[in-house]
Amino acid sequence: MNIYYYTFGCKVNQYETENLRQNFTKRGFGVASKISDADVCFINTCTVTSTADSKCRQLIHKIKKENPRCIIILTGCLPQAFEEDTVNLDCEIVTGASDKTDIPDLLDEYLSRREKIVRISPHTKGEAFEKMSNSEVVSKTRAYIKIQDGCDQYCSYCIIPYARGHIRSKSFEDLKNEVCELAKSGHKEIILVGINLCCYGKDLEGDVRLVDAVEVACSVDGIDRVRLGSLEPEMISQSDIKRMASQPKLCPQFHLSLQSGCNKTLKAMNRKYTAEEYEELVNRLRESFPDCAITTDIMVGFAGESEEDFRESVEFVKKIGFARCHIFPYSEREGTVAAKRDGQVPKGEREKRARLMEEICKQSENEFLRNMVGKTVKVLFERENCTEFHQGYSENYTQIKIPRKNSLKSLRREIFCVIIEGYEKNYCIGKICE
Ligand code: SF4
Repeated sequence: MNIYYYTFGCKVNQYETENLRQNFTKRGFGVASKISDADVCFINTCTVTSTADSKCRQLIHKIKKENPRCIIILTGCLPQAFEEDTVNLDCEIVTGASDKTDIPDLLDEYLSRREKIVRISPHTKGEAFEKMSNSEVVSKTRAYIKIQDGCDQYCSYCIIPYARGHIRSKSFEDLKNEVCELAKSGHKEIILVGINLCCYGKDLEGDVRLVDAVEVACSVDGIDRVRLGSLEPEMISQSDIKRMASQPKLCPQFHLSLQSGCNKTLKAMNRKYTAEEYEELVNRLRESFPDCAITTDIMVGFAGESEEDFRESVEFVKKIGFARCHIFPYSEREGTVAAKRDGQVPKGEREKRARLMEEICKQSENEFLRNMVGKTVKVLFERENCTEFHQGYSENYTQIKIPRKNSLKSLRREIFCVIIEGYEKNYCIGKICE
């Protein structure tokens, strides 16, 4: 039987889908490249916005139309957070976020009884980090490792704590084993990801912090780079930065989720830092990691955000000078505190603010690329799907291209020093140093 895999949402979901794919492969299932060839469709859902929910429903509809006999497995954040709305969807197996590891067994059960299965276990305080590990040889240079799950922060716009449960962390032993396996299978770069990554270790015994996981990952021979996924800014101390800066394998790119540069808006969002504290953290990171890239997420048009608040946020974003920004207009999420707030900004205005913020960020992104010109960086080459350029990423996650000049030799999985000679819209161009 062949399975078609579809993943919505974040890196954590991508990691989990990869884990399921590996488990199904061990049981003899193949991979279908299109819906019409599939016996089973596996959908790992995201519910961060109502648009994500609609896309998922559309996909179910499309699958049933194109391939009515296909068995659909629906799993993840959407059924977990909105059980009542999802149990009756036209799917054969529906599970929550915490039941993913049981899915191969549930498929066996379905195949023998042919009766719909719904398994959505509620999250509980103290639930363990599930045993998930990706190790088999896959044709990628970089690999994600989920080291943390859950969030107890309850930002007022976010449904994720309801979908992902309380914070929990992967043990050092499991982390080290997984990094070793990935190194053995040829991976050069590891990206540590989580739902609220900075909370790594809070549930483990002793004063365990994210930096401890970084040190474990960096200690593995064969891994050249360790990168961190999205970070919440309030939990990184000066001593964490000092320890991180002493790890040469740790990549100097920090995705510090900002959301707003206006303190009034941050408070309304129930974020736990001020714009001043955020700026101080950026300055400390820049001192310890010269040429690091600070990237971020920015939400505009949040409930109650006045024009003045928005302008304050814009000025702050200009001041920081991000290397890259993801900007999104606020969208009300059912089940959250912010969705019930007065003062919702009209949708057209949210779009307008998003466009304005995009323009501001584009300028700082260009500035960041311009500052790279003349520097020598180490590039891990990745893609081979372009005839014109070899492509890869520098340690600070700038995309770097070098002209192929009739060279057919693949540079994939190799690290070379490259001198940057110019930049384009969202990448730099250079040549390999002799
Ligand atoms: S920190 Fe806030 S935005 Fe991030 S997952 Fe937790 S509640 Fe959601």
